[in-house]
Amino acid sequence: MQVLKFGGTSVGSSKNINRVITILENYATKDKVICVVSAVGGITDKLLKAGRLAQKKDEDYLSEYKTIKSIHLKLLLDLVPSKNKTISKTIEDKLKQLKELLDGIYLINELSPQTSDKLLSFGELLSSFIITEALKYKGVNAKRKNTQDLIVTNSNFTKAEVDFETTNLKIRDYFNESDYSITIVPGFISKSSKGEITTLGRGGSDYTAAIIAAALNVTQLEIWTDVSGMYTANPKLVKHAFPIERISYQEAMELSHFGAKVLYPPTVQPVLDLNIPIHIKNTLKPEAAGTIISNENNNKTNIATGITNINDIALLTLQGNGMVGVPGFSKRLFEVLAQEKINIILITQASSEHSICFGILQSDASAAETAINTVFEHEISIHKIDPIIVELNLSIIALIGDSMKNHQSISGKMFSTLGKNNINIRAIAQGASERNISAVIAEKDVEKALNTIHERFFEDNNKQLNVFITGIGNVGEKLIDQIEQQHEFLKKNLKLDVRIIGLANSRKMVFNAKGIDLKNWAAQFHHADKSTLEGFFEKATQLNLRNSIFVDVTANEAVSKMYAGYLKNSIAVVACSKIACSSDYKNYKHLKDLSLKYNTPFLYETNVGAGLPIINTLNNLVASGDKVTSIQAVLSGSLNFIFNNFNDHTNFHDTVKRAQFEGYTEPDPRIDLSGIDVARKMLILARENGGTMDIDAIENESFLTKANLESGSVDDFYKTLKKDEAHFQALYANAKAKDCQLKYVAEFKNGKAKVGLQEIPNNHPFSNLEGKDNIVMFYTQRYPEQPLIVKGAGAGADVTASGLFADIIRIGNN
Ligand code: ADP
Ligand code: ASP
Ligand code: MG
Repeated sequence: MQVLKFGGTSVGSSKNINRVITILENYATKDKVICVVSAVGGITDKLLKAGRLAQKKDEDYLSEYKTIKSIHLKLLLDLVPSKNKTISKTIEDKLKQLKELLDGIYLINELSPQTSDKLLSFGELLSSFIITEALKYKGVNAKRKNTQDLIVTNSNFTKAEVDFETTNLKIRDYFNESDYSITIVPGFISKSSKGEITTLGRGGSDYTAAIIAAALNVTQLEIWTDVSGMYTANPKLVKHAFPIERISYQEAMELSHFGAKVLYPPTVQPVLDLNIPIHIKNTLKPEAAGTIISNENNNKTNIATGITNINDIALLTLQGNGMVGVPGFSKRLFEVLAQEKINIILITQASSEHSICFGILQSDASAAETAINTVFEHEISIHKIDPIIVELNLSIIALIGDSMKNHQSISGKMFSTLGKNNINIRAIAQGASERNISAVIAEKDVEKALNTIHERFFEDNNKQLNVFITGIGNVGEKLIDQIEQQHEFLKKNLKLDVRIIGLANSRKMVFNAKGIDLKNWAAQFHHADKSTLEGFFEKATQLNLRNSIFVDVTANEAVSKMYAGYLKNSIAVVACSKIACSSDYKNYKHLKDLSLKYNTPFLYETNVGAGLPIINTLNNLVASGDKVTSIQAVLSGSLNFIFNNFNDHTNFHDTVKRAQFEGYTEPDPRIDLSGIDVARKMLILARENGGTMDIDAIENESFLTKANLESGSVDDFYKTLKKDEAHFQALYANAKAKDCQLKYVAEFKNGKAKVGLQEIPNNHPFSNLEGKDNIVMFYTQRYPEQPLIVKGAGAGADVTASGLFADIIRIGNN
């Protein structure tokens, strides 16, 4: 004998029922088949909804009933098109009984647990009838047997307990006699020893199948559903979850108890005692291997087996000084909860005994609150303990696996992963079996928590980075191109999956939580929403994706003011704008502190020398205990370009114009020529070296004339350059006379920094700087005479984008 169970989706449409029939016909060629079926997908919920509406005197129950009726009539018509009168009459009678029951509930506005069971039983009664008729219509030797004649329970309505002795006898008697090749039985429903209709609890068809499989001691129980087995996590929430090939009964029980809906928790017990394996299979993909639950060959390579979640949890805390060292508090607490039939899902108690904290279903919270406050009324009135504290909208997530007990630091790994993603843990419980580590978190964080833990424990360390870019000028575009180009390489070689989730410029913004298609991002951008800085921030935080990174590719002060908010939400910040780091010291320090406090990177390598590893080198020197004694640098690509091309054959005005035309200067060239840009870079280096100074501490003696400096607009500025050509030629001639070149140099020594134009001898390392090159020489205790030199192109969209990209990758490797 073979026992197969098909769930709601498997029998949810005529197409799927035909798949079921094909599977059954195939099995029937080998041995007799007992097939347990659920109600048609969604019908149990609809029945319950109709009942509740009727109870509330809401006439919408009639439209709910109509939907239920038409779904079943349509299925029958599709599957048994012969319009056989007896069949039609049977189903219409059944539907009529259902209608009468609903009308009755409406009339007396009462929906007791007993009536609710009666109401819900219609789902499985109808589905099993239709499927049997569909089989018979195809000429299969099939029969329906109502499980209410076989499964006997107590009168614990909505979740009745089975009287196994009587039930097993009835099942054996019936099936040993029956010679139908396929018997269809409704799952979930049963009868009490007094003859009342009962049910086995929501999701209980799995249990029905296990009861029959155990009573007949079959070799295997098959549960056919809409996914290819028990997954490492709910596949609807975790895209990278995958089916577990083999799993122990104990693990399957833990997973299902802690939310893996694919198996109704009590299902395991009857078959476990007899060592009957459960095979979970996919009706929509019968060729998939599925999951085998048994106690054999469960050698797994993963330490953890799966991760689950239960939503709608309330956390209750009983606390007070009067509890310390006084026995009996927990007894009274749990006794009153038991009296109220409230199930406790998780408990923790600090060893100080000052508080007990436990998780229950949110729907039980208000009953629990009243009952507990009543029981401890006296202690509360004399302030020995506080009234019970109730927190709502929480979830439990649980990491489960038999092998976890043999490994250290699993909980450390789990909680640090949550911490890094700014997921606050409200309570923790680990069973002594060490098969389960549970944490209570906010419900809004569940998806992120499951995905990030899944990534850490199950995904071969593949790490997803979710990038939000603001500013899509030259550099932004190059960055997008580079990310697209390197995507596969990074995945393969660094196990980083870099995805761009949000893109914005000052006008528009687009998002795609699954990653924007980078091949045609510009087209998507075309139809994008209007952008605001707050809107972009809100969306990034609300998406709540793990390893989120905000990238600022603007030169906009308002954007830099958003960094603190991102860091506080554990969203890393990568900035090419140097506004934040060169703003007042208090602000710079605040951002650095937030980065430390929230364990969230704030990186800005491109602030100095574009893609050159200048800040990173300095950070490494400092971190490794070296002392930087002085820094000498040429940090302006634009000034370098200008002084490389300015001589007695050219003129200063045209050279500056050309630099601007080639994109080496800021839109306002005065920012470069006044030295302010170099001063800001120097300030950032000084701060990275431990300095606490502000910009006015950087000495800046300008080589420009008073007229240049006081010019009103950019155009005016160019006019003054033309007028003052003689001044610039004199600077050039003086240097040439000494065999020197003009270089704009930044210096840091003895805690003091200055920037300015210098005459550099022809044999100096600065002298042979080409085009837009930057150079930085670090003199340190470990590099006292020959400095550590970083040199290369210090401006340009490509290298700036690659510097930003390097920061993003650094965060990924962290
Ligand atoms: P059926 O109607 O066949 O009994 P259920 O809806 O009760 O199906 O259970 C299957 C569903 O369980 C899946 O569609 C999936 O959404 C959910 N689920 C939750 N956790 C898991 C998990 N770890 N593995 C597989 N499915 C899971
Ligand atoms: N139809 C019932 C429910 O939805 C039982 C089941 O499908 O297992 O809960
Ligand atoms: Mg189910």
